[in-house]
Amino acid sequence: MTSSAFDRDTFAEWIVAQGGTVQPGTNEWEVLRYRTSSNETGVVYRNKKGELSYTERSRADLAKFLADTNFAPAERVNRLKAEWTAKTRAILLERDGPGCVFCGQFLDRGELRPTIEHFHALAKTGNNHPDNLALACEGCNGAVGNDPVVKKIAFRDHVRSLIADVPPWQVVDTRALATAKIGVPA
Ligand SMILES: [Zn+2]
Repeated sequence: MTSSAFDRDTFAEWIVAQGGTVQPGTNEWEVLRYRTSSNETGVVYRNKKGELSYTERSRADLAKFLADTNFAPAERVNRLKAEWTAKTRAILLERDGPGCVFCGQFLDRGELRPTIEHFHALAKTGNNHPDNLALACEGCNGAVGNDPVVKKIAFRDHVRSLIADVPPWQVVDTRALATAKIGVPA
C-alpha cells in the first residue's frame, strides 16, 4: 500500500471502535501508535521516502480494517472513489487521448465530461483494471449500460455513423440519439 492510500485517521477510528486506544508517538517516524483492547501494541511507521512499514500487530489489524466493509464512513469512501477516478482518468487520457471510446467526441469540453466506461460491467464479470476501462462521454456510457461487449461494439459503429456529418464544434448528446432514436440535431 502506498502512503497516499493509507488513511491514517480512519484506521485510528477503527482501532478505537475495536476497543483500542491511540497513543502518542515516541519518535517522528511513527504515524500511528496504539494499544489494543488485549493490551498489545501496534505501530505504523513512515520513512523519509514516505514508505510505510508495520509491526506484526499493526499489519494484522490493518488487514482486518481493510476487510471490514461495515466500517466505511461515507466520507472516506467518497474520497477514495474521487482519488481513484482522477488517477484512472489520467491513465486513460495518457493511453487513449481525449476522445469518447464510442462516439469519438472530444471530452475536454464542458458539455462532455469524461466518465469511465467498464467494457465488462462491474455488475457482471468486470473489474477496475485499466484493460477493462476507457473514457466515454456520459451519453454513451449511459446508453451502453451493462450491455455485453459485442453490443457495445455495435453501438460504437452505430453512433459514429449517426454523427459522422456533425460539424466538429457541435456537441451531440448520444444518449438521446441511442435511446430515442431521434435524428442528429441540425
Ligand atoms: Zn460518446
